[in-house]
Parts: sequence; C-alpha cells; structure tokens
Amino acid sequence: MNDKTTGFILRQADYKERDLILTVLSQEYGRISFIAAGVKKLSSKNAGSVLPYTKAEFLFDYKEKRNMFRMKTAHTVSLYRYLHEDLKASAAAAVTADIMDLFTSHEGESSEREYRITEQAFTALNGGKDPDLVLALVMSDVMRIFGILPDVDECTECGSTTAAAVSLKHGGFLCARCAEEAGIPVSKKEDLKRFRLLCKAGMEHLEIVESHTEVRHEDTTLLLSFLETYSGLKIRSFSFYHRLFDH
Ligand SMILES: [Zn+2]
Repeated sequence: MNDKTTGFILRQADYKERDLILTVLSQEYGRISFIAAGVKKLSSKNAGSVLPYTKAEFLFDYKEKRNMFRMKTAHTVSLYRYLHEDLKASAAAAVTADIMDLFTSHEGESSEREYRITEQAFTALNGGKDPDLVLALVMSDVMRIFGILPDVDECTECGSTTAAAVSLKHGGFLCARCAEEAGIPVSKKEDLKRFRLLCKAGMEHLEIVESHTEVRHEDTTLLLSFLETYSGLKIRSFSFYHRLFDH
C-alpha cells in the first residue's frame, strides 16, 4: 500500500471525460502506466503535476504482474521549464520520450540505463544544449544498448580501415572501392569523423563531443535512419522535430 516511485512522464493520453493515462518511465518498475483520475477537472490538486517531459513522484498501490495502476497523487520533482518554453527543445524531448516509450521494457524489467539517459537528455535540453547533439547521443546510447550501432571501425564489406562513405544498407562505413561498387556516394572526411564520434559517444560524453565538433541536423537524421531501420520501429514524433529545421 502507498508505494512511491519517481519517473519521467513520457506520454499522456485522454481517458474518459476527466481522466488521463500517463506513460511513465520509473526508476524502480521500468515503464508503467497510471490512470490519473479526475486530473482534467480544474479543482484537481494533481492537474499541475502530470505534464509530459517532467519528472514526478507518484503515490500508488503496487501489484505484481500489472503495469497499469491507479495514481493516488503526483507531485513534480523537475519541471524542466526552459525545455517546455523552447520549441526545438520540447520537440526533441518528445522524440526522446517516444524513443524511450518504444525501447523500454514493461514493468518488472530494469530500465535503469534508459532512465539515466532520459534524465541526462531532459537536463541537457533544459540547459539549452543543442537539441541535435542531445538526440544524436540519445540514439547512439539506445543503439548501443540494443546492439544495433552502425559499424564505424572498418568497411562493412571488405574490412578495410579507410572509410569513404556511410551506407544505411550496409550498416556502417564503406571503403572507397566498395562504395563505388555499391553506388554509394562518398562523404567528406570531416563528416565521417563526426559520424564516427557520435557512434562512439553517448549522453555521458556530451560535453566532450560539444567541445570537439558541431553536430548537424543531417547527423541526427542519419542516426535516426539507422535506429529505425535496424530496430524496425518508427519514431513518429521525429517528423515534427524535422520540420522545425526546414528553411
Ligand atoms: Zn571495402
């Protein structure tokens, strides 16, 4: 009775007239859902604590083999105010939440790494860090966990260590000869170097990556292609984020 957990609100969906269903990435229970009864009423004392992309503490009754619970109370631990005021930052938070929603396991299984990545990402976005940099590192971390990172150490075809191109189809780098044979355009050296760095780094290296290179929106888009292709999952919120960069 009266179990407590702290987690990130990944998603909120309408449920009945006055209720919401919250998808939460919690520290103790992995990804779980709460029915937040009555929070759409103006008089609800929990209404202000159920915003997506915030960190909150929830009171509920835990029952084994369940992943949907009735929320008793919620209170915000971190609001991430700047993140919610900036369009690109909030769109990047939505993409992060989407990725975590799709890639974390249900209640009962550990989501500790995902929890930490989410915390680092929301904190970085709230601190005004480049949303493309944050998303690139989130995707790199998730691909590392699932063993689907692009191979950026050698040509995926012949093993040569001189890279000339990135190929989504081949799952990573190609040398000049293999790229030509496959009809894949060669990339600039600095683009390959930056892509390799992003694949090797993670959220915990954000400051180092930031001081070495300037991530481009194209890098994030390319990493997304790898993430979606090799996981078979679609990150729907990315298209809105992507449109913010159209000039
Ligand atoms: Zn080759």
